[in-house]
This record gives sequence, structure tokens and C-alpha cells, in this order.
Amino acid sequence: LHVIRAQSSPDYIPDSKFYKVEAILRPWRVQQVSSALLNMGIRGVTVSDVRGFGAQGGSTERHGGSEFSEDKFVAKVKMEIVVSKDQVEGVIDKIMEEARTGEIGDGKIFLVPVSDVIRVRTGERGEKAERMAGGWSDISSAV
Ligand code: ATP
Ligand code: GLN
Repeated sequence: LHVIRAQSSPDYIPDSKFYKVEAILRPWRVQQVSSALLNMGIRGVTVSDVRGFGAQGGSTERHGGSEFSEDKFVAKVKMEIVVSKDQVEGVIDKIMEEARTGEIGDGKIFLVPVSDVIRVRTGERGEKAERMAGGWSDISSAV
């Protein structure tokens, strides 16, 4: 299975110092994705069990009542990862590499600008709050 990369990125609009990479993925690939992210120094990740439909799970016919019956939804995991702008493409590439099977239902990634980060324990904001001890920027500046 050859590697498919995200197409080259335009400048993100709106511009922001931080972005949230929000990936909706197959539950059974999440462990693989999160350990690969951890290996590259991504230490802050939030996951939720969600259900959704896209091309994989969506109904092609509408029922009389126009409500979607619940069993059309497919179990997915949502991973949310807030990173500095310069780390966004690396995180996306890694998720693509680890989550992709090539079959319908591999998921989607949404990129959301984040206005600020506040660490509750210390009151730090911005870059100080977003940085993690031993995180990607520590690892890369240690070379
Ligand atoms: P502290 O040094 O006070 O522990 P921290 O930055 O390590 O601060 P936590 O309090 O451990 O943050 O984080 C709480 C939760 O916030 C984590 O379990 C995770 O769900 C979420 N989280 C933290 N950082 C991120 C991030 N960069 N992206 C996504 N989720 C994050
Ligand atoms: N940008 C942070 C750092 O390099 C890591 C962010 C994260 O783990 N989500 O320390």
C-alpha cells in the first residue's frame, strides 16, 4: 500500500498561532495513530467515542419520516490535537500514514484555528501553555 499524503497546504485561513487537528478515525486504528504521535513528541491528545455517517455509513434512501434511524451511524473515534502552526502538517502526515487503509470509511481531518491555550494549573497562556515538557519542540531543539 503506497503512501498517500495530504495535498500541499495553502496558507491556513484564518491565520492563527495554534490549530486543533480534529480527526475522525476508525476506532481500531486509534492506538496505532496515538503511539506514532507520541513517538514524535505529541503528548497532548484528547479522544472521544463518537458515531457518524459519511460515504461509509450514510443511508442512500430517506425514510418517510425523514429522520435517520440511529443504526445508520458508524462507531468512530474523534482525536483532537492542539499544536503550534509549524507542527500541523507533520501531525496530519502522521495521521494519514497510520490511519489510512484505502477503503471507504478511513475518516476525515478538520483543521480549526485556536485563539489561545490556558494551562489551568499555572495560569500560563499561549506558547507557554501549548508547549509540553519533552514535547516535539523540546525534542527538535535538543538536536
Ligand atoms: P499540567 O502540566 O498541568 O499537567 P498539561 O498541559 O500536561 O498540564 P493536562 O492537565 O495533563 O495538561 O491536560 C488535561 C487534558 O487536556 C489531557 O488529558 C488531554 O485530554 C487534554 N490536552 C492537553 N493538551 C492537549 C493538546 N495539546 N491537544 C489536545 N488535548 C490536550
Ligand atoms: N507543541 C507541543 C510541543 O511541541 C506539543 C503539543 C501536543 O503535544 N499536542 O511541546
